[in-house]
Amino acid sequence: MDSISGGAAIISGKDIAAGIRAGLKGQVLKMQEKNGVTPGLAVILVGDNPASKVYVRNKGKACEEVGIKSFQHTLPAETTEEGLLKLIDKLNRSKEVHGILVQLPLPFHINETRVIEAISPIKDVDGFHPYNLGRLVTGNPLLQPCTPYGVIKMLEAAAIDVSGKEAVIVGRSNIVGKPMALMLLRRNATVTVCHSRTRNIEEKIKRGDIVVAALGKPEFVKGEWIKSGAVVIDVGINRLPDGKLVGDVEFGGAAQRASWITPVPGGVGPMTIAMLLHNTVDAARMSLGV
Ligand code: NDP
Repeated sequence: MDSISGGAAIISGKDIAAGIRAGLKGQVLKMQEKNGVTPGLAVILVGDNPASKVYVRNKGKACEEVGIKSFQHTLPAETTEEGLLKLIDKLNRSKEVHGILVQLPLPFHINETRVIEAISPIKDVDGFHPYNLGRLVTGNPLLQPCTPYGVIKMLEAAAIDVSGKEAVIVGRSNIVGKPMALMLLRRNATVTVCHSRTRNIEEKIKRGDIVVAALGKPEFVKGEWIKSGAVVIDVGINRLPDGKLVGDVEFGGAAQRASWITPVPGGVGPMTIAMLLHNTVDAARMSLGV
């Protein structure tokens, strides 16, 4: 799964995600044979944000590949909050739907918090509902946010023990940075979370045995900030004006110093979708009580 780049070995999210998807395919078949149930994922898209359309299409394709039934609901941009909440209510009660995902961002006139909180926590495959985040805080997770969960699976696949290590996370969003901190803390890392107001960020990053960059700024983390032998996880996906995709870490320089590094593309990105499928199969299993 890994090849050497500079000094660092690559953690290939692409390969690990393919392994996860193959495993899920087997689990779906088993569930169909044993329980007569096919896991179902409903994806709701409001409006016509081009990036969101691509994400939704990719999620649908990924579902089909592993045998998950995908239900796509594309609503016009002028959909009211009430209309969206009604659809969620219907999907919460549907026996065919085990996971519900509302593609973010939503149009400004719709309250994102209210929408996320309307999704039944046992169908909340994004893991954004306060119930699921609360379960994560208390160390008893149910459905976990896909991107940081994918990072954990990558660390496990590379047999990287995080216990007792200094983990430095750059970014504190509800979907990546904060749940990432909780997941690493639960695995006994000593966690520092940096954000836009952090002073001397370079000094903080230099301490990291594990550095997770999730801020959305192309190549913000410089190669020379990486401690020798550190593990570098690059969550960022940024498109440069010339069309090239880069992460939040200066890959070449960081790869010279790190022991392990994730590439962009082919790193955390494919893991996020794989964990969405994983959560959907888990949610279907929960609905069966198995
Ligand atoms: P948000 O914009 O929600 O959060 C960015 C975070 O980074 C904020 O906490 C912000 O701090 C912090 N930040 C911004 N600028 C700086 C800075 N100069 N120094 C330190 N901290 C800074 O982003 P997301 O968490 O949604 O996404 C982060 C990145 O990860 C993006 O590139 C996104 O595309 C990518 N992503 C990739 C996914 C994948 O599947 N690989 C999935 C999700 C996201 P503050 O809170 O103070 O504003």
